[in-house]
Amino acid sequence: MTWAGWASGPPCPGPPQGPRRAFLGARSPALERLSWSRPLNPARHLLRSARLFPRAPALFHGTKRLLDYAGLAERAARIAGFLRRDLGLSEGERVAIYMNNTPEYLELLQGVWWAGMAVVPVNARLHPRELAFILEDSAAALLLVSQDSDAQSAAIATRARVLQVPGPDHARMLRASPLEPPAYRGPDDLAWLFYTSGTTGRPKGVMQTTRNLAAMTACYFLDVDDISREDATIYAAPFSHGAGMYNLPFILRAARHVVPESGGFDPTELHGLAQWHGRACLFAAPTMVRRLVESMAACGADPGGFKTLVYGGGPMYLEDIKHARYILGNRLVQIYGQGESPMTITCLSREQIASDDHPNWEARLASVGVAQSLVEVRVANESGAALPPGETGEVLVRGDAVMAGYWRNEEATRAALREGWLWTGDLGTLDAEGFLTLKDRSKDLIISGGSNVYPREIEEVLLQHPRVHEVSVVGRRDAQWGEAVVAFVVGTGVSPEELDALCLENIARFKRPKQYRFVQSLPKNNYGKVLKTQLRAELEAELTARAPSHRGT
Ligand code: AMP
Repeated sequence: MTWAGWASGPPCPGPPQGPRRAFLGARSPALERLSWSRPLNPARHLLRSARLFPRAPALFHGTKRLLDYAGLAERAARIAGFLRRDLGLSEGERVAIYMNNTPEYLELLQGVWWAGMAVVPVNARLHPRELAFILEDSAAALLLVSQDSDAQSAAIATRARVLQVPGPDHARMLRASPLEPPAYRGPDDLAWLFYTSGTTGRPKGVMQTTRNLAAMTACYFLDVDDISREDATIYAAPFSHGAGMYNLPFILRAARHVVPESGGFDPTELHGLAQWHGRACLFAAPTMVRRLVESMAACGADPGGFKTLVYGGGPMYLEDIKHARYILGNRLVQIYGQGESPMTITCLSREQIASDDHPNWEARLASVGVAQSLVEVRVANESGAALPPGETGEVLVRGDAVMAGYWRNEEATRAALREGWLWTGDLGTLDAEGFLTLKDRSKDLIISGGSNVYPREIEEVLLQHPRVHEVSVVGRRDAQWGEAVVAFVVGTGVSPEELDALCLENIARFKRPKQYRFVQSLPKNNYGKVLKTQLRAELEAELTARAPSHRGT
């Protein structure tokens, strides 16, 4: 078989042979009609591309070409055959993936969908105890892991079987007979069960259906970017998050999928891959864009290999966007989304970022753009009524991208989904043209002396200082003010007085941080988001340690 044992075999399968022709070809008009009438299984996109462009290069490890579209579809069909027939799993079962980015990840993702099952992507950096919670809660039938004995022990306590990738069972998987065609999935069927980070309480499983993924995919084309077969998407961010979900529009256009050999984000490697492949597209957290830009600026690297960098998942500060645009040119697009409305709430388009002659350009750059085409966005007061432009309230979103609810958690679902709207927990304002500017997450809002202080506003000001590299502003419990503003600053040779002066020039006096704490780095999660909860916990621990002991009084 040309497609078995690809890791050790030729870099790309040779010309199609008997089984492949049978696999891709129509066996009977009835079956063909039936199979084409099942558009909501995400794996249908793969089958479609494999039929239309069987020879188009599909999967690369760095610069090494591994599979074409026929080969990738073949793999997914065999994985699906193994899951359904050899393991006896049923449609609708959950399959957890606890792996770093590898080329196999994409095959497995597609294979699980092909089988009519839901993927439970688990951040590879989670502690085995957190993994055990997710396996238990999702009642996953199978856990796919890279070599990791801790993960295996986490699975022992649950009903999940464990399959190691690569490993003997994985090799058997790739030799199994293909499932044809991909299983039927209805629009409300679960496709992706994504666990929230759980910084506040237990993680919740966000139920993303095939409809949600279809809406996300359509919005990619409508709002974010067009894709051609010559494009290459590079997975520099984890598959287990937005970057992984964004495989779908690229599969649909039969574009190239590139998994860096480092398995992650290395600015030099990424730039080299972009140069080598050309027309490189990627999704990156703002911190990644920043590191890439710094590394490219340091050596005067040519951005020509990049086509589109989609950034989002956390705030990107105005100074950073301007610098990124200066170094990368008009290659940036911003999206705002959350697990509960995956990658699909608003978008700030390439044109909007590029239009520096527009009178509102800076305000737009600091915004997250306008509602994506298949969702509606509202800024609302506490009862859900729309607020007029300019007023701050909670961001609500509704439409086909919005999750079906939290997995087996009706109480949390009722709190998040009310009268058809998803309450995002983000605070923001809309302007008259529909541009949304995020303030902060409601839990990050600081209330000092009875006034609202939005950390992001202060962070934007402090970042204007040329020697401030990173900053994060949080609230600390304070007897006098309720909360006091504290700024954690990563910078060199900066004094609190200089920062204070900068604040006084730009924002109301009461918003100035009461304390500046100079640190080497900020704590971040796997997706590059600053962990404000950790910073707050640090401050709280100090307060508790300093409080007089009541023992013996
Ligand atoms: P997650 O569900 O882990 O993807 O986190 C989603 C949260 O990240 C959102 O609710 C926002 O608070 C934040 N976020 C996502 N995209 C952006 C963006 N473009 N700008 C600012 N914050 C963002």
